[in-house]
Amino acid sequence: MIFEARAKVVRVLDVRRLLVLFDLDNTLVDRRGTLGDWAAEFTARHGLGDEVRAYVLDMVAERAYPSTFDLIRSQCRLPMSTDELWSAYCADIAALVSCPAEVLEGLDELRAAGWRVGVATNGASDIQRAKLRATGIFERVDGIFVSEDADARKPQRRHFALAAARCGAALGDGGWVVGDNPVNDIGGGRSAGLRTIWVGHGHSWPTDDSGPDHMVPHARAAIDLLLLHAEDHARTRA
Ligand SMILES: [Mg+2]
Repeated sequence: MIFEARAKVVRVLDVRRLLVLFDLDNTLVDRRGTLGDWAAEFTARHGLGDEVRAYVLDMVAERAYPSTFDLIRSQCRLPMSTDELWSAYCADIAALVSCPAEVLEGLDELRAAGWRVGVATNGASDIQRAKLRATGIFERVDGIFVSEDADARKPQRRHFALAAARCGAALGDGGWVVGDNPVNDIGGGRSAGLRTIWVGHGHSWPTDDSGPDHMVPHARAAIDLLLLHAEDHARTRA
């Protein structure tokens, strides 16, 4: 009995050290689909045509910061300020974005199994946090790092180090990165000394570079894989 109890304690402490950092856009949430819906709404609201819709969509898909809306504002001759456009964009995206229920449940399951769960995302702090709050991801993770918080973008190692620190962990302890971007998430994660899971949405690995440790079609499959890994890890170490 005592040995059993001790083994359980060891297992929990051991598993607790496992860290996973999730990318946000097109990994935990469908950014592409959300932006398409937003661009349609935006152009309808401002009485702009299909050509402008494609332009606006390209612009925000590439890089969504207040400066993006400075350009959109002057190109489309919009009467409101850049600040007003940016605030409206953050509110609109927060209203449109969602995270699948099975992924939210998966984040809970990971934490219940002792994982430290973090979000490591490039982007502007206010829009990324608005999305995290609106989807319910915010209260389901231990830490969040957005590149604009400290001017450290993926694939820089520093980005992953700061994200790990937000979760109370260090890169030296190892961990996992889950993401859809071969360079930023997989290449960056590997360079930071982390193991990697590529969320490929059914595509095949696109580069000649060595691939990720695992490839999965969607975030829930990555979570299932991590939960299995934790079980194996605990079994071997107990
Ligand atoms: Mg992504």
